[in-house]
Amino acid sequence: YLAKRDHAAYAIYCTETETHRRNRTALLADLREAIDGGQFRVHYQPKALLRDGSVNKAEALVRWTHPERGWITPDEFIPFAEQTGRLKSITHWVLNEVVGQLARWHDSGLTLCVSVNVGMSDVEDDAFVAFVDRVLRQHHVEPAQLCLEITETGMMHRPQQLLVNLDRLRQLGVSLSIDDFGNGYSSFGYLAQMPVHELKIDRTFIERLEHNFENISIVRSIIELGHILGLDVVAEGVETQAIWQALAVMGCDEAQGYLIARPMPADELAHWLEKGFDMPPAVPNMATVLS
Ligand code: C2E
Ligand code: MG
Ligand code: MG
Ligand code: MG
Repeated sequence: YLAKRDHAAYAIYCTETETHRRNRTALLADLREAIDGGQFRVHYQPKALLRDGSVNKAEALVRWTHPERGWITPDEFIPFAEQTGRLKSITHWVLNEVVGQLARWHDSGLTLCVSVNVGMSDVEDDAFVAFVDRVLRQHHVEPAQLCLEITETGMMHRPQQLLVNLDRLRQLGVSLSIDDFGNGYSSFGYLAQMPVHELKIDRTFIERLEHNFENISIVRSIIELGHILGLDVVAEGVETQAIWQALAVMGCDEAQGYLIARPMPADELAHWLEKGFDMPPAVPNMATVLS
């Protein structure tokens, strides 16, 4: 009986891993075609200053429309691309697209700063800094208009080589940001060493801000920590007015999230910016906001 059951379990296990393996192999092949086939797009999500609601920054987020499977979220294919050594070509495509867009916007009188997400494998690559430099020069875009976001967990892996390349990027004049902060385990000392300009508080802390008072202390501490280190602090995943108001009271610098706008194509962003964003009314203190 046991053998039989194990056999059945084994068969199920095999089918599952087989399907999984086949999907991965197919996805890998498809990833190779995606760039040449023009299946990627970049969407832009605005970031607003909590102080006055003004917007002059956005985050670039890649979108993949697969010819058969339809829309595939970056959370699904970016980690996979990184594991299989395919991230580099995606990053190169996105950077070229974004910097080209920055140049076109600039020509039409719109000067924005845009953040691009990059992986550890990108920044570790010694040719990366030269690539970024070349793209900016080709399009005549100011390095300060480009920001690179690296996740906190990514930053902790290979500190030495990473620090060298981050320093070189910073010397180029590109801004640097730590993404999804609060999920990793950066020590204060390590964080202080990082040549970054900005810290983005992970969405999970922001989403739960309204319902979980512990998170208020966590978010407040991260904001203070960021400010002690001289960094701009951004909250991602801001979905409600109450959260906006709480962050404003806590002195957070910028907010990004559905309350302000969803990620959208470049031409839509230009229209959206003409209308601007109506920021929620200010409130005197946090207790009133979160009660
Ligand atoms: P991320 O860099 O932390 O980006 C923020 C994610 O939160 C985006 O998901 C965005 O659409 C989503 N988001 C923004 N505001 C809200 C909100 O108010 N509520 C909720 N529930 N979600 C919100 P997206 O576009 O699906 O991207 C997921 C992740 O994939 C990104 O997380 C980033 O790590 C990665 N990614 C996206 N584009 C690229 C890229 O071009 N290159 C690389 N290397 N990674 C990318
Ligand atoms: Mg990001
Ligand atoms: Mg993030
Ligand atoms: Mg994230």
